[in-house]
Amino acid sequence: MGPVADPAAADDLGQPRETPLFPRLAIVGLGLIGSSVARAARRLNLAGEIVAIDANDDVRRRCAELGIADRVAADAASGVEGADLIVLCVPVGACGAVAQAMAPGLKAGATVSDVGSVKGAVVRDVGPHLPEGVHFVPAHPVAGTENSGPEAGFASLFLGRWCILTPPEGADRNAVARVQEFWEGMGSIVEIMTPQHHDIVLAITSHVPHLIAYNIVGTASDLEAVTQSEVIKFSAGGFRDFTRIAASDPTMWRDVFLNNREAVLEVLGRFNEDLAALARAIRWGDGTMLHEFFARSRSIRRGIVQIGQSVPYADPPGPKEP
Ligand code: NAP
Repeated sequence: MGPVADPAAADDLGQPRETPLFPRLAIVGLGLIGSSVARAARRLNLAGEIVAIDANDDVRRRCAELGIADRVAADAASGVEGADLIVLCVPVGACGAVAQAMAPGLKAGATVSDVGSVKGAVVRDVGPHLPEGVHFVPAHPVAGTENSGPEAGFASLFLGRWCILTPPEGADRNAVARVQEFWEGMGSIVEIMTPQHHDIVLAITSHVPHLIAYNIVGTASDLEAVTQSEVIKFSAGGFRDFTRIAASDPTMWRDVFLNNREAVLEVLGRFNEDLAALARAIRWGDGTMLHEFFARSRSIRRGIVQIGQSVPYADPPGPKEP
């Protein structure tokens, strides 16, 4: 199956490129993010050929049925053969082993990238396995939903969302520029930073908020004074949004916390101090402190709305496209 040629099919994603950016794209791990990359790359003609590599038989079968790749492969080393861009879309903790497995198949001049939510650990685990002459440009699209698997992906997932690149010092400039063009081609806005800075920024903006969501849902389900049915019935009172976040993939989030331990613990320490101050204000009836604190938070929300990042996740458009 070739790239979508009908411009109407590209809707708000924009026009497909006239010529592919990469002749062959290999994606390892066809879950939410991997299958979204495949869909977007196909729709926008970013790759001449797409190879979907996944160790899971069911995932490969679904990819073939959905037609989101030209070919599927179980074995990483043979799957990446001849690929110009290889994007690892597996959980962060699996990236090192996948890099090791695929390394013998990588061609000289190929570029390896990833989508992991933690960057320091991916750089540490993947870099040493890549042969001389293979470029490495780690990436993190700051976009997603709480759903997993190849059915969950959609082509417009990255539209209007940030994608952070963390190229190692001395990375090939042409390879970085082409990975940037790839993500911009899918509608992302690209920013470049160090892996360490990425990990602390994401600890406060994404990782600790997810931990809080998991924790509050856990606390609610353990509260003896409130029944499970009451938790579900009255969930609109703020709890509902937490349950959506806490429905995220357990493997992915286990790996995020195990691999961004230092930054998460640092942010969590600050968070605990601020929470203790709020608890003290409630205990002592300090309304001024509470009001000032809440007013400051409101202005942060307004800032997010102003830069157009207020919709939590792009909803999949209409019926599922392949
Ligand atoms: P997902 O839907 O669960 O897909 C992950 C895929 O990787 C699945 O096909 C899975 O196969 C495969 N996989 C799991 N463990 C593996 C292993 N040890 N070796 C090889 N393949 C393995 O996950 P996702 O949400 O797409 O996340 C993928 C990556 O994107 C993660 O690194 C995550 O940090 C990053 N990310 C996620 C989001 C988000 O919101 N979800 C946003 C930005 C970045 P099985 O089905 O057999 O497990």
